[in-house]
Formats: sequence, structure tokens, C-alpha cells
Amino acid sequence: MHTIGHFINGEQVQESKRTQPVYNPATGEITHRVELASRDTVERAIAAAEAAFPAWRATPPLKRAQVMFRYKQLLEQHAEEICGLITDEHGKVLDDAMGELVRGIEVVEYACGAPELLKGEFSKSVGPGIDSWSEFQPLGVVAGITPFNFPVMVPMWMFPVALVCGNTFILKPSERDPSAALRIAELLQQAGLPDGVFNLVNGDKEAVDTLLGDPRVQAVSFVGSTPVAEYIYRTGTAAGKRVQALGGAKNHAVVMPDADLGNAVNALMGAAYGSCGERCMAISIVVCVGDDVADAVVGRLAEKLAHLKVGAGRDVGCEMGPLVTEQHLQKVRSYVDRGVDEGAELVVDGRALQLDDTTQGFFLGGCLFDRVTPDMTIYRDEIFGPVLGVVRVASLREAMALIDNHEYGNGTCIFTRDGEVARYFSDHIRVGMVGVNVPLPVPVAYHSFGGWKRSLFGDLYAYGPDAVRFYTRRKTITQRWPSSAVREGSSFSFPTL
Ligand code: NAD
Repeated sequence: MHTIGHFINGEQVQESKRTQPVYNPATGEITHRVELASRDTVERAIAAAEAAFPAWRATPPLKRAQVMFRYKQLLEQHAEEICGLITDEHGKVLDDAMGELVRGIEVVEYACGAPELLKGEFSKSVGPGIDSWSEFQPLGVVAGITPFNFPVMVPMWMFPVALVCGNTFILKPSERDPSAALRIAELLQQAGLPDGVFNLVNGDKEAVDTLLGDPRVQAVSFVGSTPVAEYIYRTGTAAGKRVQALGGAKNHAVVMPDADLGNAVNALMGAAYGSCGERCMAISIVVCVGDDVADAVVGRLAEKLAHLKVGAGRDVGCEMGPLVTEQHLQKVRSYVDRGVDEGAELVVDGRALQLDDTTQGFFLGGCLFDRVTPDMTIYRDEIFGPVLGVVRVASLREAMALIDNHEYGNGTCIFTRDGEVARYFSDHIRVGMVGVNVPLPVPVAYHSFGGWKRSLFGDLYAYGPDAVRFYTRRKTITQRWPSSAVREGSSFSFPTL
């Protein structure tokens, strides 16, 4: 059986004693093993990144961007192969894997604008004969630690911009689905990126803690669950690093009485059950304003769930694949049990799913709860599975109070035909990304992605303009070239015009 190693200084490396299995979630079979890097292996990657930094920093931004132009072409040429790797280890359907890859490539396209992004700011004559400018210098060695649910897109939220800004990079992808990240690392090398500029170590807490503790690592970008995000933020910042740590979510969709219910329910199906609910922007709670709306939404969702096509991600026409691991499947199932125990009404029970074949895959059908209340565990916790809960409220005010009081604030959306309501909602709601009749308001590559409250620790969002700020340090230079004809005396007062 093939063992997946690391990518350090332009070479595939296998040297770790500890390994763990990688599964195909659609069959339940172990397909590979992945190495879990030791401290020594991670330190080798850091040393390679540090050694590569001076030459990469000195490479003109246009040359760095040209690597990204070639990289984009290679990603497009190898798109099917990459999506296959995603589906075989994550479980999501192939079309969804393609969606993730395309959104990742859009960040590469943004990074192609490096010369423009790094142009800086210039002011002539800030004083007599004095000019001043601000420039954006790279930080040095930076690291990215990423979750299982977007094995390609989330790493690509980070390294394209970090690299074109002149940093060298170490990626620590999820140990649950490592193959796709390793493949896109190889393509970076093929695109002409010098050895050592991008390195990848597979691993677990030992690898992460080595990155967090090493003074050569200047900054850490993290995406994953909130407890780990908080740990990464506290540990990394205590060690003097710049850290952005994006955490978990519980995204509410509000359905107003005037909404186009047909569109809203179609949108909710994809947003709740797409990728088996394993998205940080998945809708997991629908807040229906009024019982009439709730009855209609629950009825239509239940009808559609009866026809949801669940199966292996590679099967043509399949809409929802399996969960990522057996352990995660059991965790999600136990939340469904808990919801029933706590008194929510289980309208559709995905635990009863029967697939035609005899697969041992990690499947769970779509689940729908009605009459969920804010004190229930299934309301408070991020379940990260195909479980949608409906909460009934009497007014928009009540709906907004619910969302504002939840610990997470990643995404939300409202379905309405009323512009005034939509404007009020998007202006006041305490959430980082808001959709109006858009269920998954994931910002495009030239904006930035981030949540509020306990969905993000740090000040700057992922990708887009915030990423340029995150991966650079501002330097302001004030310059004067005095005329040789003029000799000025010393001044002991603070400089003014
Ligand atoms: P996770 O927190 O378990 O793992 C994320 C990364 O942290 C992995 O690389 C993992 O190896 C590492 N890690 C795990 N436990 C660790 C520990 N104790 N110490 C140090 N490192 C550790 O997350 P996951 O299950 O892979 O991904 C799902 C989570 O990610 C969900 O909570 C989801 O909402 C979140 N997520 C958030 C966003 C966002 O943008 N806010 C995007 C995608 C996923």
C-alpha cells in the first residue's frame, strides 16, 4: 500500500515512523497510509523555506506572478485528476470537487496581479525636497494549516497570495485527505517555483506544534474547528507570530413570509446537504418567520429529501456523497440521536438510508428536524453533517436576535422580496458574510473571507486584499536628496513642514 509522505525542498520525502490510514469514504476501504511528520521533518521543511527566502524575496513580483500564470494553466489541465483525488478521500461528488478547485484557481488568478497588489503608496514632496513611500515587504517563512473539508481550495486561499508577496511557505494539510494537496504542490514545482519556496508536511498536532513554536516561522494561517483555531491563535501570538485562525460555524438562513419559497427551498437543499453538510458555510439552521412559512418550508424540504440522490461521489448524477470518516459518521449520528432525545421533531431520518449496494461507506441520509429550540445541543453545536434544523419564530427581530446571540458568526442569509428588510438585515446582523437570496455568500477572490465572533481569531480575513496585508509588513521610507548648493544647520525641534 502506498504511503503518502511530504514535499520538502522540491522532493518527495518519506521518513516518518508514525503513519495513519486514509480511507475512501464511499467504500470504507483503507486506500493509503499517510506519514505523520516528526519534529525533525518539520524542522527540515522550515530550514528549506528559510534558505529559499532571500532569493525568492529578491525575485521581482512580475516573475513571481508568472509562476502563478503557469500554475493556473497546469491546474486547469489536471483538473479532472485533482477532483478525482478530492472525491476519493473526502467523498464529495465530482461536480462539487470541481467547484472547489475553480474557486481555488480564482485565488491564483488574483495572485497573478502581484505587481499591482504590491505597488505601494507614494507621496511626493511631503516636505521641502522630501518624498515618502510605503512599501509592502514579505514576512519570511509562513505556514498554513488546513482542514479536511476543502483539501484544495482552503490551501489555495493561502499560498498563492503568500508566495507572490515574496514569502516562502509550509503547508500542513489535513491528514484525513492528503493526496490532492500533495498533487497541487508538485504542480507548483512544474510551474517553475524554485525548490524550497513551497514545502508540504503531512502530520498532526506534533507537526502543528513544531510550526507554532519555531521562531523562524513568522506567520500562521489556520482554518479548522473553533477549539483548535483558538489554540493556534493563542499559542502562535504568544510566540510573537502573526496569526489568522478561521474557526467553525452555525449558519442560519432566515425565510421571510414574502420570500419566493420555491427558490428558497431549492437553495436550502444545496446549501444544507451539498458536500454532506461538511462546509463551514453550510446552512444548518433555517429560521422561519411565522408558522405558515415553517409548515410550507418543512413540507417542501421533506418532499425534496425523499428524492435526494445519495451515493459514491464518482457516480454520475449523485448529489450527496458520504461523510469523511467512520468516526465523523458516528459523531453526526449521535447528534441526530441527541436531537430526538432533546425533543426536536425528526421529520426526515437519514439514519434509515438504504443504499442499493452492499457498500461499507460512511453514508448518512439527509436529516431534517423541525421545532428546534435554542437550548438544544443540535442548535448550539456545529454538527458538520447533513442535518438541517428548523426554528420557528414570530418576527424578523426575533430571528436576528437568535443569530446575534449564537457563538458563531461566519455566514448567514435572508430570503425575502423586501429590499428594506434585506438592507436592514445585512446592515445590522452580527455575522461576517451575509447573503440576500444567496445561500452560500462565499466572497469572490478579490474580496476577503472571514467570520465574526468565535468563527475567526485575528484581525485580517483570508485571501483578497486582506491576504496581501496579512502576508506583508509595511515599511515607510522618507527620502531627501539635498541640493549640494545648500547647507542646512542642525535642528533640535521635532520635524515639521
Ligand atoms: P480540525 O480543527 O480538526 O483540523 C484542522 C487542522 O488542524 C488539521 O490540519 C489538523 O491536523 C489540525 N489539528 C487538529 N487537531 C489539532 C490539535 N489538537 N492541535 C493542533 N492541530 C490540530 O478541523 P477539520 O475537522 O479538519 O475541519 C472541519 C472544521 O473546519 C469545521 O469546524 C469547519 O467549520 C471548519 N472550517 C472553517 C472554515 C472557515 O473558513 N471558517 C473553512 C473550512 C472549514
